[in-house]
Amino acid sequence: KYKSLNLKEDMEKTLPPSILNLLKLIGLYGNELGINVYVVGGFVRDLLLAIRSKLNGAKKSIPYDIDVVVEGDGLLFGKYVAKQLRAKYVEHPKFHTCSIFYRNGENKIIRIDIATARTEYYEEAGELPKVELSTIKKDLYRRDFSINAMAIKLNSGSFGMLLDFFNCRKDLEEGRIRILYPLSFIEDPTRILRAIRFEQRFGFEIEPNTLSKLEEAVANGYLEKVTGMRIREELEKILEEPEPMKAIKRMGKMKIIFHLFERTYYSPTMEKDLEKLFDVKNYFKNNLSNYLNKVRLFHLVLYVLLQYTPEESLKKITARYGLPKDFIKNLMQVKNVYNEISNELKNKEKISKLSYYYEKTNGFQNEQLIFLAVKLPEELLGKYYEYLRKIEKLKLSITGEDLLKKGYEGVQIKTKLEEIKKKLLNGEIQPGEEKYLI
Ligand code: ATP
Repeated sequence: KYKSLNLKEDMEKTLPPSILNLLKLIGLYGNELGINVYVVGGFVRDLLLAIRSKLNGAKKSIPYDIDVVVEGDGLLFGKYVAKQLRAKYVEHPKFHTCSIFYRNGENKIIRIDIATARTEYYEEAGELPKVELSTIKKDLYRRDFSINAMAIKLNSGSFGMLLDFFNCRKDLEEGRIRILYPLSFIEDPTRILRAIRFEQRFGFEIEPNTLSKLEEAVANGYLEKVTGMRIREELEKILEEPEPMKAIKRMGKMKIIFHLFERTYYSPTMEKDLEKLFDVKNYFKNNLSNYLNKVRLFHLVLYVLLQYTPEESLKKITARYGLPKDFIKNLMQVKNVYNEISNELKNKEKISKLSYYYEKTNGFQNEQLIFLAVKLPEELLGKYYEYLRKIEKLKLSITGEDLLKKGYEGVQIKTKLEEIKKKLLNGEIQPGEEKYLI
């Protein structure tokens, strides 16, 4: 469907001028230092998708993160580029990579990550490494999936040349997630989560052989061998997708959730709660957005996922994924409150007062407040939201200081202030009338 393997013209039509010119400059600097320079990975994938949707008349956004691989010293090249562009240069010595932060004409920061291509690639066992021509090929072969394993050459003279060694473009065209070598998931089990993320993001399909390798790696416990931090990073990326629920469902059905969180079973009830969570979160976004400040979606999703997990397992899970010490305590707190409320449903008068929700949730973190909304019986949700809206804006016209002056002491002050707050919540007094109660 592409006119040729050279994408120069398509890039000129599709990319914003600032990105296009930047890529051309990077290529030119490659020529100046005498090394081959490529843009690779997700950028190429998204560019090809954008070119195709442009042909179809649709619009696709172009990424502002650029992954560059050079056949040569990546750090040396990075320093040179940063100097020429007068951009910020950051080195990551542990990975032997660097990043450049370039501010374009529209004041947008473009991030360029630069890495060195792997140095050897044997066409066949016993052959000498074909260093000059094959390093980029080796680099691409080591990547997660074919759709992410293409490169475009940037050097002046061959700018726009697409390198597609493994039929990647065809997979992208036909919507396939495919690993490049049989041991891919064993070598890096985080790719299990990545496969699902890309599949669900693009509406692609994990092709049968890849799927069976993936299922095999899951069943053989390879997810358990990865550090919690690396798993968490990939899970967080899933949660940043526009529709995370799609990937979560897939992970649940494939028993991935179970392998990530011991003694945690993905059930239809669990799925309903998770769906509710995203609805509730949406409601908060539109109506109670202050409560979303600093809310960690990862914690929120884990509250739901781990609500029935036994406590010994919770301890291991929270340690594994670096969750804070009070995570379990906070989870239990919400569960207890939810149970209490469930037992008081018959007491209509009690549950219809806004002060009731204040008593139940006073001191909760925002994640707990949101999780409670997920668990709360449908008929109480309206009241609960009303409470949250009101308490958010509630300001007393008197302070502890005023109470001190009136002779209140110590804990009496706190109690009195809370009493006044509850009266305001219930509409028993109006704002400004606080002073008559002390
Ligand atoms: P996104 O659009 O989500 O940013 P991306 O493809 O840019 O997708 P990154 O996680 O930023 O995703 O990775 C950049 C590139 O590095 C990928 O396109 C892929 O080629 C390669 N890569 C990343 N993680 C792995 C991995 N675990 N194994 C192999 N290759 C990987």
